[in-house]
Amino acid sequence: METLLLAPEEVGRAAEIIRRGGIVAMPTETVYGLAGNALDGGTVKKIFEAKGRPADNPLIVHISDISQIYGLVRVFPEKAKILAEKFWPGPLTIILPKSDKIPDEVSAGLDTVAIRYPSHPLAQKLISLSMPLAAPSANLSGSPSPTTMRHVMDDMNGRIDAVLDGGECEVGVESTVISLAGDVPVVLRPGGITVEMLRNTIGEVEIASAVINPLAEGEKAESPGMKYKHYSPKADVVLVDGNDEEFISFVNSQMGQKLAVICYEEDKDLITAERIVVGKKGDYSAFAHNLFSALRRADELGCNIVYSRCPETAGMGLAVYNRIVRAAGFDIHLLVNSGKEGVQ
Ligand code: AMP
Ligand code: MG
Repeated sequence: METLLLAPEEVGRAAEIIRRGGIVAMPTETVYGLAGNALDGGTVKKIFEAKGRPADNPLIVHISDISQIYGLVRVFPEKAKILAEKFWPGPLTIILPKSDKIPDEVSAGLDTVAIRYPSHPLAQKLISLSMPLAAPSANLSGSPSPTTMRHVMDDMNGRIDAVLDGGECEVGVESTVISLAGDVPVVLRPGGITVEMLRNTIGEVEIASAVINPLAEGEKAESPGMKYKHYSPKADVVLVDGNDEEFISFVNSQMGQKLAVICYEEDKDLITAERIVVGKKGDYSAFAHNLFSALRRADELGCNIVYSRCPETAGMGLAVYNRIVRAAGFDIHLLVNSGKEGVQ
């Protein structure tokens, strides 16, 4: 099929395609999503096919008004309401027990559903002109999520009906996913709304172990997406954990491979290999914003190995760490004086 490129003012046309059962990549403040009618199992199947996504990995349902949640979930507990009032519209996904309206294809057979109200005006417009939209990230399953229309086309050209251009995504990593379906709220995936922000709002919030650790053999993933290799460019990614001097001398001593280095602004003049700068040291919002394009850039440069600075695991650093440690298949090179024992 031919994939149409739609300008922002053609959002009405995008909605028409969706109302007819088509699939449109839409911009959101996190990453581009592959959107289709969340209430129609047949359409949802087409989204899975276009991405090559395993059928047991559920999708997030996107709404354009808090009140729309009532038809989609069985209960809307107080803590969920507080979070929705405070952080919606925005990069927070809330998991709750699902209503009968949610097709099994969306929830991948679970009895819960993930709901988000995005803040991007074009996403809001598209939803309000159509219906609640199921929308996983608009990449081929396993590769880095798309943060520009060009990234979407690199993966999806010919596989979907259209892409709605909304420029570059602001946050750059996918939404924070919190489950409120159990007794204690649990963060299943960190994102633009940090764990610290959630705790300041509703008190106790756990972090699922799989956020920073590989799943143990046979361990069940609370969020099915956590068990898959993710965010990987073709090049091997290695996280290098050390201080500034150690990092620079380590990467400068690597030879004989086509390598690129994901580094901070401050490192760039000191590194001899190909550099991909992701922002100033300590600015994890910038790192998140640039992360997926940095991973895609490594492939454009034809690298076979990418060394990256290792982010901290607090604040926005946790969201960056969660993505990049998966891109690296948990391959962390620990330098002598990093002062850490590695993140286990
Ligand atoms: P993506 O749509 O690519 O941003 O991925 C959505 C993430 O949310 C995946 O990691 C899913 O496994 C997770 N997810 C969606 N729905 C649920 C649910 N009902 N329970 C647990 N995790 C979910
Ligand atoms: Mg994804």
